[in-house]
Amino acid sequence: MDAVLVINADLGPLHKVSVQHAIRMLLRRVAEIHEAEPDRRIGVFPMPRVVRLVRYVVTRWRFSSGPAWSRSGVHLRDGHRCAYCDGRATTIDHVLPRSRGGRNTWKNTVAACYACNQRKGDRTPAEAGMPLRYDPAVPSWAALVRL
Ligand SMILES: [Zn+2]
Repeated sequence: MDAVLVINADLGPLHKVSVQHAIRMLLRRVAEIHEAEPDRRIGVFPMPRVVRLVRYVVTRWRFSSGPAWSRSGVHLRDGHRCAYCDGRATTIDHVLPRSRGGRNTWKNTVAACYACNQRKGDRTPAEAGMPLRYDPAVPSWAALVRL
């Protein structure tokens, strides 16, 4: 209940911390009180509800699990090569087809050429006898930025 919301210097919410943790941030001057409870104090401070970081923290590197999925990102990750035949990829193939619940995720999508995509159709790679040349994975930010 006594959790304190930490917000970035640009007021974007980050995460919650304990009151004790928030007080330590105030003492180290890395955060300031943004909103406090009017009638409660903890030591020299009003009881914080929201603390704001003094300096902006670039969060996507630290807190997110990776880049958001995108079709162009899949092509970059896979080097524009077909995951089945190594030919030039022009389409995105869903490893587990969308018609069977496959989602737009890094692990379920690969770059594919039109012919392989058509041949595979509504089947999994195993069913189609078309093994993937690699296991699709979440790319690092660096892998997407480099290209
Ligand atoms: Zn192909």
